Amino acid sequence: MGMSDSGKAEWLTTRVDNLANWARKNSLWPMPFGTACCGIELMSVLASRHDLARFGAEAIRFSPRQSDLLLVAGRISIKMMPVLTRIYEQMPEPKWIISMGACASTGGVFNTYSVIQGIDQFLPVDVYLPGCPPRPEAIIDGLIKIQQIISEDSLSHYKVDESSEAVAP
Ligand code: SF4
Repeated sequence: MGMSDSGKAEWLTTRVDNLANWARKNSLWPMPFGTACCGIELMSVLASRHDLARFGAEAIRFSPRQSDLLLVAGRISIKMMPVLTRIYEQMPEPKWIISMGACASTGGVFNTYSVIQGIDQFLPVDVYLPGCPPRPEAIIDGLIKIQQIISEDSLSHYKVDESSEAVAP
């Protein structure tokens, strides 16, 4: 940072990576995928008491094409997993995933053939939230961990894949 004779800040230098990461981590647009009781707990984190807007992540989108943070809250059945995978694939890069609660992360108490025993068998989960359900404070903690991951990211990690085909709507 440059200072003038009067002591006022006049210019600032930074790396493009730092600037992009700062913008990204403070403007996450979550895509909620709530299938059960964890989804109700997820709603509460947006209300005034916990106020996710303090972290710039209150702009919940219901279109994967406008989202960069997939929040999976609840158990995922075998029939639902292809839908969830498709939604993830429709999200533009860079993107991150929070697996919220025991059911999304491990199947929870639903140790049965019809429930996926952890979405990380199919999707690259970044942060797991333990609990049944996790408290809103745990969701905020998970979001802060995502922000830490973004802080260490670099634009050089992303390349345009010209051979890939657009995903059909
Ligand atoms: S982890 Fe608990 S609260 Fe969350 S979806 Fe499963 S049973 Fe419901």
